[in-house]
Amino acid sequence: MDGSLAARDRVGIQDFVLLDDCTCITAFMENLEKRFNADLIYTYIGTLLVSVNPYRELDIYTRKKMDLYMGVNFFELPPHIFALADNVYRTMISEINNHFILISGESGAGKTEASKKILQFYAVSCVRTEVLDIVRDRLLLSNPVLEAFGNAKTLKNDNSSRFGKYMDIQFDHQGAAVGGHILSYLLEKSRVVHQNHGERNFHIFYQLVEGGEDELLHRLGLERNSENYMYLVEGECVQVGSINDQSDWKTVRKALTVIDFSERDIEHLFAVIASVLHLGNIHFEASRGYATLNSSEEIHWLSKLLGISANLLQEALTHRKIEAKGEEVCLPLSHTGLKKELLSDTNKYFQNVLLQDSSRKTVIGLLDIYGFEVFDVNSFEQFCINYCNEKLQQLFIQLTIKSEQEEYEMEGIEWQPVPFFNNKIICDLVEEKHRGIISVLDEECLRPGEPTDLTFLEKLEEKLAGHPHFVTHMLADQKTRKTLGRGEFRLMHYAGEVTYSVTGKKETATTITVSSRLIYMMLSLFNVYFLECILINIMVGAKNICIQVATQFKNNLFSLTQILMSKEPWYVRCLKPNNDKRPGHFDDVLVRHQVKYLALMEHLRVRRAGFAYRRRYEVFLKRYKPLCPDTWPNWKGTAAEGVELLVKHLGYRPSEYKMGRSKIFIRHPRTLFATEDAFDI
Ligand code: ATP
Ligand code: MG
Repeated sequence: MDGSLAARDRVGIQDFVLLDDCTCITAFMENLEKRFNADLIYTYIGTLLVSVNPYRELDIYTRKKMDLYMGVNFFELPPHIFALADNVYRTMISEINNHFILISGESGAGKTEASKKILQFYAVSCVRTEVLDIVRDRLLLSNPVLEAFGNAKTLKNDNSSRFGKYMDIQFDHQGAAVGGHILSYLLEKSRVVHQNHGERNFHIFYQLVEGGEDELLHRLGLERNSENYMYLVEGECVQVGSINDQSDWKTVRKALTVIDFSERDIEHLFAVIASVLHLGNIHFEASRGYATLNSSEEIHWLSKLLGISANLLQEALTHRKIEAKGEEVCLPLSHTGLKKELLSDTNKYFQNVLLQDSSRKTVIGLLDIYGFEVFDVNSFEQFCINYCNEKLQQLFIQLTIKSEQEEYEMEGIEWQPVPFFNNKIICDLVEEKHRGIISVLDEECLRPGEPTDLTFLEKLEEKLAGHPHFVTHMLADQKTRKTLGRGEFRLMHYAGEVTYSVTGKKETATTITVSSRLIYMMLSLFNVYFLECILINIMVGAKNICIQVATQFKNNLFSLTQILMSKEPWYVRCLKPNNDKRPGHFDDVLVRHQVKYLALMEHLRVRRAGFAYRRRYEVFLKRYKPLCPDTWPNWKGTAAEGVELLVKHLGYRPSEYKMGRSKIFIRHPRTLFATEDAFDI
């Protein structure tokens, strides 16, 4: 590390913990910008990695760089995502425990890129075995496939993740990657049927239409022109400068084979994708309140591709049967609900078969979720996405700031508490039983009669009036009222205010229609007769499969939190330097806002005042007593006394460590590294 003053002037400080004034955000920003301008996009706060999106390719992810970072102590080289990945890996091996890396930041900040870099690093760096090559290929190639089906161009990001992804990589005791699996969270389904201006549908549609082989398109009844498909043109931006659908198609097509999809599965997958496009072109006509179709060409292709008789299909698309007072009633079906489900289930189908689970090993989890986002109009999907970010922020607070302070207290370590904003109040606002927004939404959906968007809003007003983070047109003061429509509510999120429109919210939230099951079945079952049976079955059972999407999402988030809580956390906090995807431009106001809401200053203060490492006395003693071999054969004292003896022998200065009730606290990682290095001498 070049610690000279001149170098510091040029490239700033590589760990914010070493800043002269850790309470001053201006000094923090200066350091961040200085480094950004020198193309140093990474800076540490202790073991947390801050990353600023450079919006251009940097020459720092080469194989040579990977080699450089392998097996090197964290602080010996300039901060890097590889250093973090390597450190997590080696800690996992030496401590034989599970870890996860939480990558957060708003949309376009660089989360997905960071997760890909970590995967690439593991693919190269971890112990090699025959199995590894298979696992590596699958890990790496699952990404383009997942992105094809789950990412899309939005106004904020040309490759925005519209689903959350949690990926477990499993290692054996020697550190070889032996397996892994992927969980996905809430795909933004509405995008299949509707895209805002300047946005696109999921990449896969364009890839297939633009890049698919002639013969394949012919079989699927598709024409090579995205402009011909209703679902691809709404945003009026079929072509995107940074995206090459044709070459991406080739990558995805190849990846599908490598990750072990049979040709038969692949055919069926494309059939479903093509079906969505055909469905989108079906012309619905309203006839006395009921939907009727007049699109024989599309019905023909749908029938062929999905293997369902045209008549049955026609009926399924226009009606649904529900049971009312013991009798079957035929109701017209809202066709928007149907189409949305296709992709979501396709996605699910995928992710479960990506990698084989093996017997239990230690794991490194990688979490790459859609970032916090605010658009001009924010709907149910934004609500879920931002709620998810709120939960992850809560997890960060719990696992770092709050628990750190609590631990010092518990261990009797002298400590000056750091004040911080705890966003639990906003999480509760969304998820609390009986009173939270999701609960109210559920109640409204289940209520007999015809609840409307506005009754939902009224219920919210009734339950949440006076809440400091919730406001509606009616509840607002005069000044705020002007900025709020009648069908809207506003949440003061940890990352800023977002106004949500409730129009249509109830429908999105409740209408997982009959077709959901149908299409899921389509994906895995190929027997026409069986399909038809299912089709009939689910039409009768429609009422029971109206799933409360928001609640389901809440529950999924809860299980995700449980998965994460059982592992050791590591963090990558991604920052977005400007809103224009412009290289080299650092918008101080924008970045400062992110630094604030990501609680980086608080984290820094806690880190700075605190101790980088802590170990239970027993663990510490067991690991390091070989460094002082003479003492132990006849040793009779407690573990704490043993550690005291050991650190004296190792020459720790009193300012470097503190003895708690059950653990030793070490102020700086350097001290621990030096101790580790003593093994090699
Ligand atoms: P979302 O929440 O919308 O999914 P995200 O945080 O995952 O956003 P990314 O897709 O990772 O954002 O990044 C957006 C774009 O920024 C990338 O497509 C790439 O062009 C650029 N980018 C991000 N990180 C880097 C990097 N380390 N080096 C070069 N370019 C980057
Ligand atoms: Mg992403």
